[in-house]
Amino acid sequence: MQAALNTLYQTVVNLCYPPFCLSCRRSLEEGWLCRDCLESAVRIKAPFCQICSRPYTGEFGAPFSCPDCEDHPPAFDCVATRYQATGIVRDLIHRFKYSGEFHLRNLLVNWLEEALSDPRISAEPFDGLVPVPLHPTRIRERGYDQIAALVELLGKRAGIPVCLCLRRSRYTESQTRFSRKERLQNLQNAFELRKGSSVLGKRLLLVDDVLTTGSTLDECARVLQSHGAQSVRAITVARR
Ligand SMILES: [Zn+2]
Ligand SMILES: [Zn+2]
Repeated sequence: MQAALNTLYQTVVNLCYPPFCLSCRRSLEEGWLCRDCLESAVRIKAPFCQICSRPYTGEFGAPFSCPDCEDHPPAFDCVATRYQATGIVRDLIHRFKYSGEFHLRNLLVNWLEEALSDPRISAEPFDGLVPVPLHPTRIRERGYDQIAALVELLGKRAGIPVCLCLRRSRYTESQTRFSRKERLQNLQNAFELRKGSSVLGKRLLLVDDVLTTGSTLDECARVLQSHGAQSVRAITVARR
């Protein structure tokens, strides 16, 4: 009886945690990706901008901020991210977002945890994780709110409360083809504080999947700051 239960348990575990690489399907002993796939994920290495994490080449003696962040300081203190959104990282995020492969969130949350351990983020505690909200229409199209799903699991693993204090008040066009200026215009008044929420005096961490120009995080941080948040930092799974 016990042996049968163990087998059943293992079957259920294998269904939930498939013992093969999520990218190349090679069978695995443990984890989500085989060593080759894991090593093919492009990490962001120093030197990078202390505010937006854009990597640079060359020698920089001290922490620096890039010309973009100097000219247009964002409303968030910094955004930490450990991977470039290319190759396997882009593919897995894409599958999670558009192909309904919900189980991929386990791996994507590992990558968010790596961003969480960035010294700029871990230096000071925060009071809540804030997912960048999707518009209800987008959630219906995709079947679930993928950012909220990532943040829920991250909050559970890290023991940090999730603060669903933002809502998307306007349906915005997909931003991919827009310039920085067009993105900011497109996002103006796209977010607002949810009725009944208070962020006064709170240290918050915004979470998104991919950092592109930073204008979405900037706009969300602006709303949180305007309602009295003490500080706003951010993490993403990857950056373009
Ligand atoms: Zn693999
Ligand atoms: Zn920068």
